[in-house]
Amino acid sequence: MERLDDVDGLARRRGFYWPSFEIYGGVGGLYDVGQIGLRVKHKLEGIWRRFFLEGLSLPMVEVETPLITPSRVLEASGHVSSFTDPLVECPSCHRVYRADQLLEAKLGVNAEGLGIEELNALFQKNDVRCDACGARLGGVKTFNLLFKTNLGPFTSDVAYVRPETAQGMFTSFKRIFEASRRQLPLGVAQVGRVARNEISPRQSLIRMREFTIMEFEFFFDPADLQAAMSALGDMAAESLNLTLADGRELTLTPMKAVSTSHVKTPWMAYFMEAALQFLLNLGFKSEEVRFVEKGDKERAHYSAQTFDVMIPTKRWGLVEVAGISYRTDYDLRNHSIKSGQDLSVSVTLEKPFLQASRRVVAHADAVRVDFGEHSGEVLAAISTLDPSQVGQEVELNLSFGRVRLGPRHFAVQVEERLVSAKKLIPHVVEPSFGSERLLYALLDRSLVIKEGRVVLALPSSVAPYDCSIFPLVKRDDMGSMAKRLESELREAGYSVFYDEDGSIGKRYARSDEIGIPVAITIDQRSLEDNSVTVRDRDSWKQWRARSSELAEILRRVLSGKSLISLGLEEFSRRPPKGKKAGG
Ligand code: AMP
Repeated sequence: MERLDDVDGLARRRGFYWPSFEIYGGVGGLYDVGQIGLRVKHKLEGIWRRFFLEGLSLPMVEVETPLITPSRVLEASGHVSSFTDPLVECPSCHRVYRADQLLEAKLGVNAEGLGIEELNALFQKNDVRCDACGARLGGVKTFNLLFKTNLGPFTSDVAYVRPETAQGMFTSFKRIFEASRRQLPLGVAQVGRVARNEISPRQSLIRMREFTIMEFEFFFDPADLQAAMSALGDMAAESLNLTLADGRELTLTPMKAVSTSHVKTPWMAYFMEAALQFLLNLGFKSEEVRFVEKGDKERAHYSAQTFDVMIPTKRWGLVEVAGISYRTDYDLRNHSIKSGQDLSVSVTLEKPFLQASRRVVAHADAVRVDFGEHSGEVLAAISTLDPSQVGQEVELNLSFGRVRLGPRHFAVQVEERLVSAKKLIPHVVEPSFGSERLLYALLDRSLVIKEGRVVLALPSSVAPYDCSIFPLVKRDDMGSMAKRLESELREAGYSVFYDEDGSIGKRYARSDEIGIPVAITIDQRSLEDNSVTVRDRDSWKQWRARSSELAEILRRVLSGKSLISLGLEEFSRRPPKGKKAGG
């Protein structure tokens, strides 16, 4: 029997997600997002866009770049050589494991980022055996997680499915920069599919071989601390729970995290705080969100510092829903070198400054008078003099003999130039959220069991529908009133789940299981006085309200208030004329 609190079971039953290609036995790590799950996922993505791209008052743009990426690009980015995980294969039954994760599960050690030799030593020392057949394991190899393909019919044109959306944004950075306001900072975002050939994905939506990433590359001038510090100062700062790479646990404001150098650049702290605020908006509690710093060996090859954003789940423990990395100028610099294109940008300085420069200028008339036919050679020699080396006089060995030149022949001039722009390769901070992991974490924390039944207490902002509408019984008059209300609410901008099949109890149960915050029922009395029953998903309490008040009730529920906190009695206390309020 399936456990009631099994998120995967609920997901399959109610159309959130399920293993893809099930009729052929399914494929590890590939999942369909179903008709209900996709509505939640789209809402999550919408909230992510509104929060990060519009809500932070920072210059952010969004682009879309291809999944198929030529080998050259991923060679330059280091993925072809470094995007690997350690693999161990059972010599007897050929079952494969991700070596570091297997050691972690069997020995309770953190083996992430260990080299092949260190992993092999652990296998040897601890007599680790295959779960399936009991054979002794060893002989760890590296396995590249890129999915390989070819461009067109030529096998020499190797390409890969992108493992992150980032490279498309780096390779087109110059064009994006030039088509926007040509200023730093500039955030470039992308929401899209990526693929990683995970070795043995057995953890539902937590470890998929194809998934959606919501990420942006935030390009900035590392010398311009002012912009980052003032953005940080403007934030309402909730303290960050940090676990540092050395294991220390600290709770610091983002400002303090920067001033104590635990976080390497202010923009990194800024986006850690933003990530926390985003998760709080989704209903997670600040004490649940932990920023875990990756150690030197665990970090991706491009990163100078990475914090994983971890959230607890009932089944899988702490799950990384996002990674925030300081990629420095690693990617742009490497693409500049490998493509031969200059990816540096010129930015206008907020505070232009005067720069002094010295140069040697010849007094040509005096030179001509003193040196006659040799004056051309003398003038050429003066033009090569180094202004920092010459004094009042210089002696030069020229083809016609040794000459002594003085203030009559040249002068050192000081010129001042206004510098109003500078060239640089921007640095990058990258916050990267996994859509499906976030979806899973939300379902996991929202699933509650109430009197032996499943209720999905999703925040109304991410519920698949704003409300459900049920005619109490399948009858034409109730049905047509329910349909009328459905189209009125749709026109008012609300999403409605219309359901007229089965007993009302079953329909309430279905509505609760897919997390719809409000259920509206049309009954006999509705036909007489236009009132309806409004039911709260979480408390199962019911109120009577006028149908004309439904849009206002939904508006308030969607602004984050529960029906109970709304004091719906307010609506019930004002019963339709001549009728008594129902409960
Ligand atoms: P990364 O680029 O490895 O930092 O990944 C960015 C985000 O993508 C992570 O924080 C996860 O939320 C998500 N993610 C990474 N790998 C997987 C996977 N195999 N399956 C599902 N989501 C993933």
